[in-house]
Amino acid sequence: MAFPKTRMRRLRRNTTIRRWVRQTRLTADQLVYPLFVQSKPKGRQAISSLPGQFRYSVDPIAKEAKAVYALGIPAILLFGIPKTKDEAGSEAYDDEGIVQEAVRAIRKAVPDLLVITDVCLCEYTSQGHCGWVDSSSKEIRVDNDRSLELLSRIAVSHAKAGAHIVAPSDMMDGRVAAIREGLDQEGFTDVAILSYAAKFCSSFYGPFREAVRSAPERGDRRTYQMDPANSREALKEMELDLEEGADLLMIKPALPYLDIIALARQRFEAPIVAYQVSGEYAMIKSSAKNKDEERALALETLTAIHRAGADILITYFAKALAPYLYRLRH
Ligand SMILES: [Zn+2]
Repeated sequence: MAFPKTRMRRLRRNTTIRRWVRQTRLTADQLVYPLFVQSKPKGRQAISSLPGQFRYSVDPIAKEAKAVYALGIPAILLFGIPKTKDEAGSEAYDDEGIVQEAVRAIRKAVPDLLVITDVCLCEYTSQGHCGWVDSSSKEIRVDNDRSLELLSRIAVSHAKAGAHIVAPSDMMDGRVAAIREGLDQEGFTDVAILSYAAKFCSSFYGPFREAVRSAPERGDRRTYQMDPANSREALKEMELDLEEGADLLMIKPALPYLDIIALARQRFEAPIVAYQVSGEYAMIKSSAKNKDEERALALETLTAIHRAGADILITYFAKALAPYLYRLRH
C-alpha cells in the first residue's frame, strides 16, 4: 500500500509513540568508562587533550570508580601511566605497579564494579611501541614473539591484582593464545579476555596518546595495527582471536568503522565491543555549542554504533550520559 493509505509519519507523531516503536535502545548497562591512573601527583589532574577527563592517583581513582558504579555503569577500562619507563616496560608486569595497585584499591572500594585492564607495553616502554623493540638495532622492528611472553606476564599480574577481564591492545599475532595459556596456568581460568581484535592504525588516537604519554619515540604502528582500508582482514583478525580464546571482540575506533561492526555482528556470536576513541570524543566536544548539543551528539553517535551491531560501548561520555539512560533493574 502506498500513500495516502500508508503514512510513515503516523508512528512519529509524538514522543510517546516514538519511544514505543524505537528499535535501538541505549542503556547504562552497556557502558564502559575509561579511567587513567598515575602515581604522582596525588589527586586528580585534568587531561588537556580530553576536556572533562582526568588522570587520578590511587585513592581518588577508587573514589571515582565508586561514583561511576553508583551511576549505573557496570564496568571501567583502566589505563596506567607508570613512574618510570624502560626498554622492557617492566612496570607493566610488576605486581606493585600502578595498575595493579589501582585494581586492588578499586576492587576493595567497589567489589561489584567490573574491572577491565588494558594490556599493552606502549605506556611502559621507553620506545613507546606496543611490543618489544631491540633498541640496539638501527631500524625499528617490533619483535612479535618476544612480546608475547611479556604481554602474558602483564595479564597474569593484572588478574592477580583482581581484574575480571584483561584487554590486550597491542595487536601482536598470537597474543590471545599466549595470554589464555598464562592465565590458565596460574589458575585464572575465570578471567575473560576482551581482545582489541580489529584495532585500526587510526589518526583518531591523538588525544589519548597525550593522556598516557605513549606516542612512539620513532616509527609508527603500521606494522601491527590494521590498515583502515581493510575490512576482510578485520574479519580474519577477529576469527583468529576467537580461535585463540577471546571471549569478547573489540573494534576500535567506532564511528568511522560502522561497516566493520555490522560485518562482525553478522559473522560472530561473541559480544561485540566498540571503543568510541579519544579523537571521536574530542571532535564532539569541540563542535558542540553547549552541554545539550554535546549530549545529543554523544547519544546519536553511540546509538548508531549500537545499531550497527555493537553490544557494549566504551566511551568517555559514559559518566555524562548514564543519568539520561535507562538502567535495567532486574
Ligand atoms: Zn599499545
